[in-house]
Amino acid sequence: MSDDATTDRLDYVEWADRLRDGDLVGQECAECGHTTAAPKAACARCGSRTLATVTLPTDGIVHSETTVAVPPEGFAGEYQVAVVRLGDAKVLGRIDGTVDIGDRVSFADVLVTDDHPAPVFEPV
Ligand SMILES: [Zn+2]
Repeated sequence: MSDDATTDRLDYVEWADRLRDGDLVGQECAECGHTTAAPKAACARCGSRTLATVTLPTDGIVHSETTVAVPPEGFAGEYQVAVVRLGDAKVLGRIDGTVDIGDRVSFADVLVTDDHPAPVFEPV
């Protein structure tokens, strides 16, 4: 673990490591309070670089969804992905089951493909 000035800055490697461990984290802006679900160098709303790593809520609402009818190599059959609103943050994840926009979902699992983890949500 580095002890330089970037220690508090969430990067993709740490975000992915924590997600593999089942910990869904994002960043909260100290200036405006905007929360993101993926690591950023600066706040997308106000540009501040004062960002704190926060644990995101595990229950959310489906913001948008789509079904992948022709899966990439290594996947079988159709599956659904969705942008899920977790509090103020939005994260793209895989759906275990079937959902519609506005449905309530819960963070249930982590899917790791080619060493890249993705959250899996299921309807509640
Ligand atoms: Zn901000």
